[in-house]
Amino acid sequence: MVIIKRTTQLSDYLDRHKASKKKIGFVPTMGALHKGHLALVERAKKDSDIVVCSIFVNPTQFNNPSDYQKYPSTLENDIYQLEAAGVDILFLPSIEEMYPNGTKDLEHYDLGYLETILEGQFRPGHFQGVCQVMSRLMKMVLPDALFMGQKDYQQCMVIKRLLEIILLKTEFVTCPTVREADGLAMSSRNLRLNNEERQGAVAIYKTLLALKADLKKGSLASIKKQGVTMLESGGFKVDYVEMADQNTLEIIDDWDGSKPLIVLVAAFLGDVRLIDNMIMRDNNL
Ligand code: AMP
Repeated sequence: MVIIKRTTQLSDYLDRHKASKKKIGFVPTMGALHKGHLALVERAKKDSDIVVCSIFVNPTQFNNPSDYQKYPSTLENDIYQLEAAGVDILFLPSIEEMYPNGTKDLEHYDLGYLETILEGQFRPGHFQGVCQVMSRLMKMVLPDALFMGQKDYQQCMVIKRLLEIILLKTEFVTCPTVREADGLAMSSRNLRLNNEERQGAVAIYKTLLALKADLKKGSLASIKKQGVTMLESGGFKVDYVEMADQNTLEIIDDWDGSKPLIVLVAAFLGDVRLIDNMIMRDNNL
């Protein structure tokens, strides 16, 4: 695995592979890697000739400064895991490399409705930051395929929109959420949970399963409330428990019994904010 820190070196290196028509797969991350990230790498390896992974904790997407400061970093172990997983290039840019003109007054992307709901509503500016870093990374790597996780469902939709805005035809591959044995969605932020919180965190997954089992046609108000109550009784402070159209993320209050439906949750355990989601009724059913 080659570790590259400068954009110019990255394009020199990639140009050689592109000239020989190699398919480039890209897995962007913020590090503190776990099996969820490695599943993206595995899928990218299967679908591509050359796999590029990046680790960059992007300051512009953190609406909460302490969340940024406390973001876990396990770089040495990350490098070891990516090498073992067969990544070809690890891109490790500095903040100056990504934002040579600083992080103030950056470009704005018109994400429309997507930015007004769920994570967009509860983390103002977050998706602008995600787009600012992803547009830079995408232009630097220019991959044939981009691999991202369903765990960040709304982020996947935002990035698909970004690719349209910046006119890139990159194939977008959504990879399923990888979970711990008890069902907790793997996340770098799980490292910040103490033992007791870690045990309690499984309540999110149990809530999603319970809501899926209890889902009925008609008003969704009481099932959403049931989700909030379950999480609150597990000690969570809930940002949202929402049901939305799986294709558009349009919030659904009254379900016709057939529309593809996803439930999305964000909640704090102590000062750690966790998100998760589950398809309730699939497109194909
Ligand atoms: P992050 O490092 O948290 O920015 O995540 C980098 C990529 O890994 C994103 O595309 C995430 O959606 C994906 N990811 C994070 N956690 C998981 C998981 N548990 N399963 C699958 N993909 C994940």
